[in-house]
Amino acid sequence: MTNPILTDADIDPSAIHDKTVAIIGYGNQGRAQALNLRDSGVNVLIGLRPGSASEQAARDDGFAPLAMTEAAARADIVMLLVPDEVQADLWNGGLADAVRGGATIGFAHGLAIHYGLIAPRADLDIILVAPKGPGKALRADFERGSGLIGLIAVAQDASGSARATALAYAGALGCGRAGILESSFQEETEADLFNEQGVLWGVIPELIEAGFDTLVDAGFAPEIAYFECLTEVKLLADLIYERGIAGMRVAISNTAEFGAAEGNGRIVGDAARAEMKRILGEVQDGSFVNKLMADARAGYPALKASRQRAAAHPVEAVAARMRALRDQN
Ligand code: NDP
Ligand code: MG
Repeated sequence: MTNPILTDADIDPSAIHDKTVAIIGYGNQGRAQALNLRDSGVNVLIGLRPGSASEQAARDDGFAPLAMTEAAARADIVMLLVPDEVQADLWNGGLADAVRGGATIGFAHGLAIHYGLIAPRADLDIILVAPKGPGKALRADFERGSGLIGLIAVAQDASGSARATALAYAGALGCGRAGILESSFQEETEADLFNEQGVLWGVIPELIEAGFDTLVDAGFAPEIAYFECLTEVKLLADLIYERGIAGMRVAISNTAEFGAAEGNGRIVGDAARAEMKRILGEVQDGSFVNKLMADARAGYPALKASRQRAAAHPVEAVAARMRALRDQN
């Protein structure tokens, strides 16, 4: 199924202009969304927990943060921009009672709704506006006059205008300058969770580490291994982003292209594809999310161990040295 790509021309910005948006959480997405919305003329409130580590950042940006329930009670649209695994606790611990009748509740990722961690009242609109990139990029692109691609979806449409609200919200974030895709909570959530494990944040760094280890174990200088296996990933990503995979092939040397052809299928073979299907299965049957929530409840032992493993990998020391060199120049 192909989705039409919507842009600013398809958006009625008045669906959000006279509205008050409460941004709950001032982290990666919270800060970027709050600033973009404010610059788009939307009235923005920030809701934080008592003693929040983000309070100063919000004040420095010219906001006067409120308690989460107070911000939520004053808003037409309440955007939950705290980590996915804490959203349900905050919702059940006060936000659900605080939000106005008929309010819109928005998410940047569909996890809490799709897996039923939050079961919202029937009078609320439930929307998804998921910019496809980190908060820093969302803000930087907006300031540059461009935008990030965004997905929108509606899980509950009590008012009859939930889609228009989601579109206008995405437009105010700058996504309408790049393109907005209509999706569903299921599609956005499952595809995102699959990609995190099966392609991007897990696999590509692991490939970099494995390639680095292979060269260093064979006696190559760590600096050479670092440049070959890590920094060139940026060149690759930029080329693929600009031209597609076939277009990237045209831009590299014949030797590199022949090497690419020879390497095809050797690392990502049938076994890797079968494993990807298993990963998707675990996302779809809820077992991945159960593991995530159990780790969160236990204080993140698995997440912390994985952070420590990554920090201890020898590529990190080289990377830090090379970054310091680069930043001097
Ligand atoms: P962050 O981890 O950056 O959120 C941090 C904010 O959440 C801080 O203000 C923090 O407050 C607050 N917070 C954390 N834990 C609690 C808690 N237990 N109680 C109250 N407040 C808490 O989140 P992200 O911006 O990364 O993610 C937010 C949402 O956006 C998620 O749904 C995520 O999937 C989605 N998303 C994120 C992207 C990204 O750029 N990272 C990209 C696209 C979607 P304090 O300072 O007090 O700790
Ligand atoms: Mg994600």
